[in-house]
Amino acid sequence: MGVAVQLDPSVDRFVKAPVRKMLIDGKWVEAASGKTFATVNPADGSELARVAEGDAADVDRAARAARRAFDEGPWPRMRPVEREKILLTLADLIEKHGRELAQLETLDNGKSLIETTNVDIPQAAGTFRYYAGWVNKIAGETNPSDPAYFNFTLREPVGVCGQIIAWNFPLLLASWKLGPALACGNTVVLKPAEQTPLTALRLGELLLEAGVPPGVVNVVPGYGETAGAAIVRHPLIDKIAFTGSTEVGKAIHRESADTLKRVSLELGGKSPNIVFADADIEEAVKGALIGVFFNQGEVCCAGTRLFVQDKLHDQFASTLAKAASGMKQGPGLEPGVQVGPLVSEEQLARVTGYLEVGKKEGAKPLTGGERNTSPGLEKGYFVKPTVFTGVRNDMRIAQEEIFGPVVSVLPFKDENDAVFQGNSTFYGLAAGVWTKDVSKAHRIARAIRAGTVWVNCYNVFDAASPFGGYKQSGYGRELGRHALDLYTEVKSVWLKI
Ligand code: ADP
Repeated sequence: MGVAVQLDPSVDRFVKAPVRKMLIDGKWVEAASGKTFATVNPADGSELARVAEGDAADVDRAARAARRAFDEGPWPRMRPVEREKILLTLADLIEKHGRELAQLETLDNGKSLIETTNVDIPQAAGTFRYYAGWVNKIAGETNPSDPAYFNFTLREPVGVCGQIIAWNFPLLLASWKLGPALACGNTVVLKPAEQTPLTALRLGELLLEAGVPPGVVNVVPGYGETAGAAIVRHPLIDKIAFTGSTEVGKAIHRESADTLKRVSLELGGKSPNIVFADADIEEAVKGALIGVFFNQGEVCCAGTRLFVQDKLHDQFASTLAKAASGMKQGPGLEPGVQVGPLVSEEQLARVTGYLEVGKKEGAKPLTGGERNTSPGLEKGYFVKPTVFTGVRNDMRIAQEEIFGPVVSVLPFKDENDAVFQGNSTFYGLAAGVWTKDVSKAHRIARAIRAGTVWVNCYNVFDAASPFGGYKQSGYGRELGRHALDLYTEVKSVWLKI
């Protein structure tokens, strides 16, 4: 075991408070019930902090505050340039506190400090900066109507947005949701996942410091069935934006019908990553590793079905297995760690359960295939990076989302077979293609039914590029200009001349 980095004193301050309170109407308050829950350090199972446990009563307070801030407050009425300035200040504050936020995220989620420092925190700041740039460019149009009238459109904010997010990229997902919502002038009730509430709460402090008025962003930590469900049902909330499992996404789709909320869903995936024999093999191995072991595989677009052209299959699988077994696993705060623990005991049980399912189905782990209980890791939720061969596309491990460091390598014959097998899933979030043949790359990119296709790369993101699902991976596009459609209504205005 190596030596973990020295914790920033501000991290200590944050986790050691007797209760980490929730943010409602610009104030830090306890739950109406007085209840708290523990968030756990997944590297050793210890309690990291106690957090106010929001439920329906707190969601109601938050929704009313957000409604007031929307109906009467300055945020939607502010000169665009002022809103832009506040979002830019927020981006600066996230960078200024980057070290602290990275450590907090690593402690709460488990992911390595390399990832939180180089990906989560800078990309969260970058997302707010990107949407700050949109504030004064969200415009309507004038329409060529009957000349007896002047007809134009206004792009107006949707209103109060309920934003429910997952635990795999806590701060980054909060920025994907809040960035466009705030840029368009909406107000928000944000619920972080119960496993990882800390960075969203710290972000709440930074939002106030940046000058976001009280009530514009309310952060209510709590459980899905209580706080989350209350957000989905609340009549004062106009829109739901959700990132999480397909199962919960479907429940939200059903539940939101009563109040006809606008809904956007970013759900699960079982993404094909397709390697042709004519690919740059060294690059493809690296891409396959990043595609599935980045963030311990707790990534909705992870390339978990790795299709390798049959003549290359065996050699590719064993090279990949060797590389996977050499990845450094340990607590995320330890220098050089590439694969941290899974987020929770529940997730550990789920992933190890799938390892058993895979073995029973006849798949063979070339490496991994079990929990990692090496000295020092026994109490944490570590699963060894696992490479399965002998997998058929109709096996459960090839069809169901595992959400852990587990990849299935499957052979394919030719282009048609790759597309057929690649598309044989209910999901459609992302895909990868590895080939030196440009025409083939274009054909596959069109033939695969998924919201993102990476060619000779994987897991590349930019705030300017849209992200979202086909099929049961959800609907609506986050990031880029497309997210503005989720957070605005179009009003048509007629004037008689
Ligand atoms: P996972 O199964 O990976 O934990 P979930 O889809 O259960 O993912 O959780 C994603 C987010 O959805 C979390 O913030 C969780 O609290 C919330 N959630 C879970 N169940 C519900 C529900 N019934 N209604 C609203 N939100 C929910």
